[in-house]
Amino acid sequence: MIKWDGHTHTEFCPHGSLDRTVDRIEKAIQLGFTHYSLTEHAPLPEESLADPQFKDECGMTFERTIEYFSFIKELKRIYSNKITLFAALEIDFLSNNHAFTKDLVKRFQNDLDEWIISIHFLAVNTKLICLDYSPQSFQEQLINFYGSVDEVHFAYWACLEQLLDQDFSFFPPHRIAHLGIIRKFIVEFPPINNIFETSEFYQPIMEKIKSKGYALDLNMAGLAQPTCGDAYLTNAMLYWCKKYKIELVYGSDAHKLDSIGQYFDRAHSLI
Ligand SMILES: [Zn+2]
Ligand SMILES: [Zn+2]
Repeated sequence: MIKWDGHTHTEFCPHGSLDRTVDRIEKAIQLGFTHYSLTEHAPLPEESLADPQFKDECGMTFERTIEYFSFIKELKRIYSNKITLFAALEIDFLSNNHAFTKDLVKRFQNDLDEWIISIHFLAVNTKLICLDYSPQSFQEQLINFYGSVDEVHFAYWACLEQLLDQDFSFFPPHRIAHLGIIRKFIVEFPPINNIFETSEFYQPIMEKIKSKGYALDLNMAGLAQPTCGDAYLTNAMLYWCKKYKIELVYGSDAHKLDSIGQYFDRAHSLI
């Protein structure tokens, strides 16, 4: 039987830990994983971000990305009999710079077994602000700009619609990463509108995901965040995954050794 972690980070992550990637893979093997995707954060364009320096904290540089792929080649050689490793990237969708993601995928297409697409940024005027950095920046930069928590959530889902309208047919993303990550600070900043808890709200979104043939990252990182306390993919969303048979792949989104395999059983109880 396949046991797969489809979303993991490595020692190449600029905001993760320096725990050795080999130790993380060894732990996954111990936990019975047979398949493991290395989905390190891809580079970002500084011109699109409100804080240009922040890009070095979010993703690898282009030089590091090249090193990352040769590092994975070596890991694949070492572990070929023990676990199936996928060379992958977690690539941001940028609402103010659609071309960047496409160019990046094309640039690394030959190195990639797969890639996952994320929304970590929302537009504030012409620049982008990170939506999952801290409760403080969520409030000061996003709620204050959009006017309310509800409007920030609507902006996230509108950004997702933009993502779904993109033509990635040359090499489509294998999964949409942590759908619903906008809920990361929901304990402190709950929307007033109950619509986000209803399955109706998600029908058109999930219908579109199905029609694009995309799978979803069943990302468990939200459970590890006291500010969220739940999987980002809520029951209201999962309802449509079951109905439309949208493929779900467990993702620990582990940024350190300790988190490898986190909440795997919980994830499986959700499907
Ligand atoms: Zn990360
Ligand atoms: Zn990630």
